[in-house]
Amino acid sequence: MTIKPFTPQLVYIEPKALEYPLGEKLKGKFEKMGLEIRQTTSHNQVRNIPGENDLQKYRNAKSTLVVGVRKTLKFDTSKPSAEYAIPLATGCMGHCQYCYLQTTMGSKPYIRTYVNVEEILGAAQSYIDEHAPEITRFEAACTSDIVGIDHLTHSLKKTIEFFGKTELGKLRFVTKYHHVDHLLDADHRGKTRFRFSINADYVIRNFEHGTSPLTERIGAAEKVARAGYPLGFIVAPIYIHEGWQEGYKKMFEILDEKLGQDTRDDITFEFIQHRFTKPAKRVIQKNYPMTKLELDEEKRKYKWGKYGIGKYVYQIEQQEELKDTLYSYMNKYFPKAKIEYFT
Ligand code: SF4
Repeated sequence: MTIKPFTPQLVYIEPKALEYPLGEKLKGKFEKMGLEIRQTTSHNQVRNIPGENDLQKYRNAKSTLVVGVRKTLKFDTSKPSAEYAIPLATGCMGHCQYCYLQTTMGSKPYIRTYVNVEEILGAAQSYIDEHAPEITRFEAACTSDIVGIDHLTHSLKKTIEFFGKTELGKLRFVTKYHHVDHLLDADHRGKTRFRFSINADYVIRNFEHGTSPLTERIGAAEKVARAGYPLGFIVAPIYIHEGWQEGYKKMFEILDEKLGQDTRDDITFEFIQHRFTKPAKRVIQKNYPMTKLELDEEKRKYKWGKYGIGKYVYQIEQQEELKDTLYSYMNKYFPKAKIEYFT
């Protein structure tokens, strides 16, 4: 089933956002679209998400868009894929049950887009200058599926064009959506790596509700590669399920079958195994009470993490098996592609 481009059910506009041209523009656009718009006096006022219980509120929040201003221009780090996370938006309309945003967004799972894009790009320029003559890479999808909302705001497009003009800056992001058409004519000058998240059919079907089907993601990948973007795929989360070897093989077969030969000159692969934290497990089970996601600490290996919150990853032997199997498929179907990491 195809997924329509995201349209919010409800829009909140923070007063400060209207001091920026993009804020005004979005207000006019959403009015024309006939969306319900509420004005707030501050970010914290966005509390009255409709819904009779937490679950309904959570679901409604995921189709609520807040137009706001990014106050902190200090960027988080974003290893291993980039040096910094560039904050263009937070939150996502997707319903991936394993998504870590459920934990990081806590009680505010709505989508928030920032209209002070010039200031954000100014901060990015300062980070680039600070690291010169090294290249500095920025990840735009750490706190949101930015492609999935960009048809409304075009702030990612602006960011792509900004990086096109920098000498030492590079941009990357990943998406599960296929709504890329407005980005095809962006003046990217090869500085942006456009990545798509892909997975075995079982994982997409059971855990990635509200996102584009695999074949549509691949169709979009082909379009962006033809538009000259360096292309990448992130296989994540790699999840052990019955018949996973076959499932991931099939995924590579579909990718091989659907992706034009002429679009394979510059492809990277990143591999990320499934992991969860104890707080994430609690939130997942609350937001998706019927989830089939396997979250048994006993079966996993504990890995110490930042702020004392460790993650549960697969056992070492399982990790090795996953890595060997996926690398072998990748080498078979995409011998020229580059592996960035397995984590
Ligand atoms: Fe989370 Fe990405 Fe799924 Fe959105 S598409 S819910 S950001 S995993």
